[in-house]
Amino acid sequence: MDPETFRRDLTAWLDANADELTPPYQGAGSMDAHMAHYSNVKGALFDAGFGRYGWPESVGGLGGSPLLRAIVGEEINFRGLADPNAWTMIEVLAPTVIEFAPPELSARLVPPFLRGEEMWCQGFSEPDAGSDLASLSCRASKTDGGWVVSGQKIWTSFIQYSQRCVLLTRTGEPDSAHRGITALLVDVDSPGITYSPIETMHGRLDFAEVYYDEVFVPEERLLGEEDGGWQVAMDILPYERSTTFWHRGALLHRRFCDLITQVSDAGDFSDSSAQAVGQVLLSILAFRSRSRDTQYRLAEGQQLGVETSIDKILITSAEQKLFETARDLLPGVIEFDEGRDAEMWRTDYLYSKAASIYGGTAEIQRNIVARRLLDLGPES
Ligand SMILES: Cc1cc2nc3c(=O)[nH]c(=O)nc-3n(C[C@H](O)[C@H](O)[C@H](O)COP(=O)(O)OP(=O)(O)OC[C@H]3O[C@@H](n4cnc5c(N)ncnc54)[C@H](O)[C@@H]3O)c2cc1C
Repeated sequence: MDPETFRRDLTAWLDANADELTPPYQGAGSMDAHMAHYSNVKGALFDAGFGRYGWPESVGGLGGSPLLRAIVGEEINFRGLADPNAWTMIEVLAPTVIEFAPPELSARLVPPFLRGEEMWCQGFSEPDAGSDLASLSCRASKTDGGWVVSGQKIWTSFIQYSQRCVLLTRTGEPDSAHRGITALLVDVDSPGITYSPIETMHGRLDFAEVYYDEVFVPEERLLGEEDGGWQVAMDILPYERSTTFWHRGALLHRRFCDLITQVSDAGDFSDSSAQAVGQVLLSILAFRSRSRDTQYRLAEGQQLGVETSIDKILITSAEQKLFETARDLLPGVIEFDEGRDAEMWRTDYLYSKAASIYGGTAEIQRNIVARRLLDLGPES
């Protein structure tokens, strides 16, 4: 299917089903409502076929270019129809599991994820291993028919809604760094897994501390090679920075348009306001130009790598500039106002602070650009 025809058919379908797909207003903090609505939208897209394009037939897809997935998320985010963060998990974890799991396992487990019937999560970070992920210590020990996992993770997004978790474990010696890490696909309802949700500053229970106490994981759940989990982790990051960032860029563009409307309605388009929104638009367009190129490289089958750190730096800067500017140009709205618009600005403003942390911090991205792309020498 060519992308133009696909987009035309998709937008016609979205227009025709707008009532069913538009999220009911439940308050910005209602995670349960967000997740239920997200699942409905994914199910409707899957049943109509749009949610199956861009995915291989072996996992219930209809084939075609990954560009088709980029278009679906872009249109959904332009219209504000589903939680972009929940959607991220599919774009990040499904391609990785398809690539690294035995084919019969992904054929069985991926379809319910694509249909929105299941949620999956990513168990990488630990209290003492975030940026320095290669020092993680959650251990998987070999046993009859699989592994026994014990240890702690933190910041695992959406675990309370999840059925599966892509988990990084230590299988080598404690000091084996990236060479002794193994990736496993774990059922979240396995005996021995407990978690304690953490509230974000925008009042949502987005993520959790997770404890693994002698959790049995069958050997068929190995992703890639034993001790080859670093490769799995490194492959996830470019996915995170391609399609999902394109989706988020559409969300930022929509919120930029909202800002223009609200500042105009307030009758406050001074020269300095115009200059400020101009700077924001430049940032958003710089990111979207770069990201467009990344989508095409992915669609051509190119291996994405460390150069996607540039996409991460650009989207972080666009997102934080947009919501900082909203705070300046809508005085008091984020701090004091009530109602749907104010709650949305407040949520987006507070969440934008996380953009320079998740998926690799701003400092780490700049280190990568300096050392690996510009060859400016080792870290001192
Ligand atoms: C909204 C959100 C969702 C998340 N979801 C998940 C998830 O689903 N699964 C998951 O596994 N993790 C998740 N994370 C965790 C995220 O991946 C980590 O927070 C991130 O990798 C940073 O690790 P850290 O928090 O341990 O900070 P640290 O690594 O301790 O960094 C602290 C500070 O030191 C700086 N720093 C560290 N090392 C260097 C260096 N070498 N040079 C310069 N500066 C340095 C960092 O930039 C940062 O400013 C999420 C985080 C957020 C905010």
